[in-house]
Order: sequence, then C-alpha cells, then structure tokens
Amino acid sequence: MKRTKSFDNTHPVLYLISTPIGNLSEFNSRALDIVSQMDIIAAEDTRNSGQLINHFGMKKEMFSLREHNEKEASERLIKLIKEGKKVAYMSDAGYPGISDPGYLLVKAAIENDIAVSVINGASAFISALVASGLPTDHFYFYGFLPAKENEAKTILVEMKNRQETIIFYEAPHRIEKTIHLLQEVFGNREVVIARELTKINEEYIRGHLDELINIDFSTLKGEMVVILQGNDKEQEIDEKQIEERLKFFLDKGLSKKDAIEIVSEEYKINKNLIYKLAVSQKS
Ligand code: SAM
Repeated sequence: MKRTKSFDNTHPVLYLISTPIGNLSEFNSRALDIVSQMDIIAAEDTRNSGQLINHFGMKKEMFSLREHNEKEASERLIKLIKEGKKVAYMSDAGYPGISDPGYLLVKAAIENDIAVSVINGASAFISALVASGLPTDHFYFYGFLPAKENEAKTILVEMKNRQETIIFYEAPHRIEKTIHLLQEVFGNREVVIARELTKINEEYIRGHLDELINIDFSTLKGEMVVILQGNDKEQEIDEKQIEERLKFFLDKGLSKKDAIEIVSEEYKINKNLIYKLAVSQKS
C-alpha cells in the first residue's frame, strides 16, 4: 500500500493538466497558476502546448512525451522530478491518459513515490455524455475503435449485451464506416454524435442508427464523440415473451405463418423480426 498527499510537500508532485478541447477560455486559473510555478512543461506536442501557454503570456522549458517515446521520456521526466524539477504534463486536448499518452508516466511516478495531482478541465467524452440525453448513470468508454473493420466488428459484437451507454471517439474520415458498422451490429439503437464541442460549430446530432446511416456524412467534419444507447433490458424481456408466445401457438398446432401473424399483431412488431425469432427458436 502507498499513500501520497498532494499538498503537504512530503513527496514531489507530478501535475497532469487538462487542456481545452477547442475553447481556450476553458484553460482555467488553477491550470495557469500551476503552469506558472513549473520548471518544465512536458507535452504530447511541445509546439502546440508551447503556443497555448504563450497565449497566456508564459514561456517555459518544454519536454516532448509522445506515444512513440512515452516509456523512455517518462523515465527521463521521473529523474528530473527526483532531482527537484517541478514538472507538469499536458496533452494536446483534454486529459492526459484519455486516448492520449500519460498512463506510463503516471505508473512510473507512482512506482517512484511521486505524488500525482490532476488539474481538472475539459474532457470530450464527459461533455458529450452529459449533454447526450442518453443515460449517464452507468457508461462504458471505449475510445477509438481499431482501424481494421474486422477487428472493430469483433469488439463491437462483444459489446452487444452491455447495458451501459457506450462512448467512442471518432475521426471525420472514419465516421461513415463506423456508423454503418454500429447499425449492422447493434440494429436501430439511439445514437448521439457530439461534434466540435466548445467550438463555434458545436453540434449534437441525436437520432437512431437507421436514420443516421442516411445522413450527409460530408457535413460531419471536425472532432466528434459517438454515444450509443446501451442494451435495453426491457427489449430482452420482450424477446423472451415473444418467443414463449410463439411457442404457445405452435404447440397448439397453428402453422408458423399464422403464429407469426397473431404474435405480430399482439405485440405490434414487424413480422420479419418475429420470423427471425421463430427461426432462431427452432435451431
Ligand atoms: N484526451 C482527450 C480527452 O480527454 O477528451 C482526447 C484526445 S483524443 C486523441 C482526440 C479525440 O477526442 C477526437 O478524435 C474526438 O473524438 C475527441 N474530441 C476532442 N476534442 C473534441 C471536441 N472539441 N469535440 C468533440 N470531440 C472531441
């Protein structure tokens, strides 16, 4: 067991700073205060973060820590912190470690008895989730799906029974493929695309996957988060009920066609769907 206090000066501290996801005014006064106290600002993109702090009238020694050098750069940073340098890490947008580098650095800090303290700010998926209108009590953040379609599909199929709201990050050049894949795997679930959050073109597109596959995808530019409805338990119970009802009529000697007709009428559900259930029941 390890206990570290962030404010009592018994341990050196690594600061993780959340940066704006599009609107510079979301870089808050605490973040500015911490940056001003640091000797070194480590960043995913030193030019980008250098410009950010420059915008607020500060200039700092920058240190590059990217996905491709995260392990070695983390070790070097830990050494610098142990030598007494004050260090903060920031990624390009939002929180370090969320679909961004940071995890290995935090792990190395903890292993070296360095306290880790977070300066809060924007996170794309939290903003998208809370405004989505989909349940927020339980959620599953996945982040970016793999680029290869068959790998993405395997992952999505494994998610099919998740009841929590599901969150993906996506890029504009892949959104069309992803929405089609979601519709193929999940059917006609509710979906929300939260686009260009905190920027002038901020937009929420709320609908069902059957509608979304027909959207003009050229209008979906910029950065976006995709929020998908979880597996609705009531639907599962209905399916069971329908299967039992079908069995009831079939056991009574009705033809499959007649049983499907009656159940479709009773539950006001499309005959094709009932037909599929009847087939799966048989197998
Ligand atoms: N670390 C970031 C965070 O805490 O949200 C995420 C970085 S990840 C490399 C970038 C992805 O975050 C984008 O492709 C997009 O899915 C999402 N994102 C970032 N900024 C966004 C914005 N302003 N609006 C919508 N999505 C955004």
